[in-house]
Amino acid sequence: MKISIKAPAKINLSLDVLHKREDGFHEVEMIMTTVDLADRIELTLLEENRIIVDVSEGFVPNDSRNLAYQAAQLLKDRYQINKGVHISIKKNIPVSAGLAGGSSDAAATLRGLNKLWSLHLSIDELATLGAHIGSDVSFCVYGGTALATGRGERIEHITPPPPCWIILAKPPIGVSTAEIYRNLKVDQIEHPDINEMISAINSSDYEKICKQLGNVLESVTFKLYPEVQRIKEQMIRFGADGVLMSGSGPTVFALVKHESRAARIYNGLRGFCNDVYAVRLLGERYY
Ligand code: ATP
Repeated sequence: MKISIKAPAKINLSLDVLHKREDGFHEVEMIMTTVDLADRIELTLLEENRIIVDVSEGFVPNDSRNLAYQAAQLLKDRYQINKGVHISIKKNIPVSAGLAGGSSDAAATLRGLNKLWSLHLSIDELATLGAHIGSDVSFCVYGGTALATGRGERIEHITPPPPCWIILAKPPIGVSTAEIYRNLKVDQIEHPDINEMISAINSSDYEKICKQLGNVLESVTFKLYPEVQRIKEQMIRFGADGVLMSGSGPTVFALVKHESRAARIYNGLRGFCNDVYAVRLLGERYY
């Protein structure tokens, strides 16, 4: 028996950090939405009691460090599963890019194994389990558009933003989320207005959404990696409606309403970096 699942990337339309918690995590408020750039996960039932991971990217671990492996292990431990699974991951989402690729692979594995191993868990139960793997996994279990709070694992669904093009560009560097948080000065943050962003999304006000984009990690990453800021400047110069860095970077995304302009920005950026994608917002939940 075999199941094939899409594991889409996310972008952050807003990312705010409120304070550092006693457990070492940061208390965040984020608006996340899924985009049509996805890894492809294939799960094959093994009668043999083991987890095997195959990844198309050589530098992504294929052992217990892989987040999809951890998702399978978590379900095995919790529900005493004596069967195994072969997890094949075709990576399309760039790695260490701020697009939650690993978290989405873990979330897709949870959804897929729920079927493959006939666990009959609800989507909310899967999202709660996902939080044990990583802060972004809960959101990735649902997909769609949501306000994520706590350390990112508390999810409130909101309506999807109006459809538009998303141009993603990633300079040839990987950014460690931990490093960016270490360099963040929480008392010097200029907070984005998350409520205004939610109201813009609720009223499908595209111009206001573009205006309200904000990510408090942007200035930290820009300082450490100036090439990320240069990509943002290029996108603005090429005529993007709104531009923001996703997560802790280094991927920068542009919102663009008109297809002809999206093509111009895409082609323009291809001159500066290899990893450029023109995709649509997904925005809707899977469940
Ligand atoms: P986030 O936006 O949630 O911070 P990211 O997009 O910055 O995530 P990922 O691509 O998820 O980063 O990968 C971060 C790290 O996780 C890498 O060091 C990678 O080796 C490891 N990793 C573990 N499992 C996976 C996976 N299935 N796909 C990609 N990376 C993985």
